[in-house]
Amino acid sequence: MTACEIIKNKRDGKELSTEQIKFFVDGYTRGEIPDYQASALCMAIYFSNMSERETLDLTLAMRDSGMVLSREDNDIRVDKHSTGGVGDKTTLVVAPVVASLGVKVAKMSGRGLGHTGGTLDKLESIEGMNVDLSIEKFNSIVEKVGFAIASQTQSLAPADKKLYALRDVTATVDSIPLIASSIMSKKLATCDDCIALDVKVGSGAFMKDEQSAIALARAMVDIGKGAGVKTVALITDMDEPLGYAVGNSLEVIEAIQTLKGKGEKRFVDLCLRLSAHLLNLATGKNENECIRLCAEQIKSGKALDNLAQTVEMQGGNSEWIYDETKFPMAKYSQKFIAKESGYIYYTDAEKYGLCALSLGAGRTVKDEKIDYLAGIIIHKKKGDFVYKGELIATLYSSNKEKFNSALRLIDQATEIKNEKPNERNIVFAIVE
Ligand code: URA
Repeated sequence: MTACEIIKNKRDGKELSTEQIKFFVDGYTRGEIPDYQASALCMAIYFSNMSERETLDLTLAMRDSGMVLSREDNDIRVDKHSTGGVGDKTTLVVAPVVASLGVKVAKMSGRGLGHTGGTLDKLESIEGMNVDLSIEKFNSIVEKVGFAIASQTQSLAPADKKLYALRDVTATVDSIPLIASSIMSKKLATCDDCIALDVKVGSGAFMKDEQSAIALARAMVDIGKGAGVKTVALITDMDEPLGYAVGNSLEVIEAIQTLKGKGEKRFVDLCLRLSAHLLNLATGKNENECIRLCAEQIKSGKALDNLAQTVEMQGGNSEWIYDETKFPMAKYSQKFIAKESGYIYYTDAEKYGLCALSLGAGRTVKDEKIDYLAGIIIHKKKGDFVYKGELIATLYSSNKEKFNSALRLIDQATEIKNEKPNERNIVFAIVE
């Protein structure tokens, strides 16, 4: 068996065997197969696709290229994963809701890059919060309070890390089997029993149309099930920013307010649906009962208590969770005012994300320092009526030089019309 034969088979549209896939992934991880051959294989996969069996084999080979978490408990552990969006602070609500119902949530997460934010960056805006946990500490927090969140260790699916970086520079990112196996190899390495996937679709998402989002969801759900993990995917709207806040500390504040029962309607709906699906997978209770139970955890304040406990266990100041006025605010703010009266017809999620990025809330290159206080608070959402001169959004930054370009972006991102836009559901479809 040689790498070249494997590339040739895929180039010619043939199905690769389990052994061929494992040989290639292992050889590439060890550095015995060079980048140029791995790029050629990725391009062949891009054009010739992969069967369900091949995609599962590729995922398992990448999962097994590094550490797979071992567990000694008999608890049911669940995980949720979002394909990334703008204003997506869902984990900060879903995880405490589910954990407060006794279902363990062990979440390994990545950092934000580009126009979408990362949950770890958001959490680090809380004073003292530490997301660099050892596996032992991570497991012990899950054990004690039900929810822990940590940055993905370097040793998790190293084959994917190498391949993803290569795909990024060889125009082979947007291939369904490559994306699905990349995401799921990292998810499966943490050994959870159930996974709920939030596959976003729209201008601010990786997948711009519903059909591609469903295809990606199908591929990921099939991988999860093929690996023996109960998996469901929700296809959800990312054509407008989620909730009112975009930017790290602003989003944590919004998540806290949501856990206090003061969340934006569509955001609350999404959080409850995702939490309910996780609870359903973990307990077998029906969806309506699960939604009722999850809503009750918010109403009773138990979900908020759970978030405070997790923050405390991870070194953060839990007083900030009970009193969000303790979060510092950015030194500078700038109003974005309506130039005409009418309905907010469209708020382009991607451009809102780019606007927050330009204010300092995100990274354009890996390891760039971010401004935790930068971002946007949206006062008028899509479908709201606004009068000329009224406030649509407030921009925040620690650097006032950033406002000019940010204002240009938010202006381009916001369309006002006399006509009221049709309402879009937050959840379009469920793939199970
Ligand atoms: N996120 C990943 O982890 N991998 C991909 O291929 C795309 C998005």
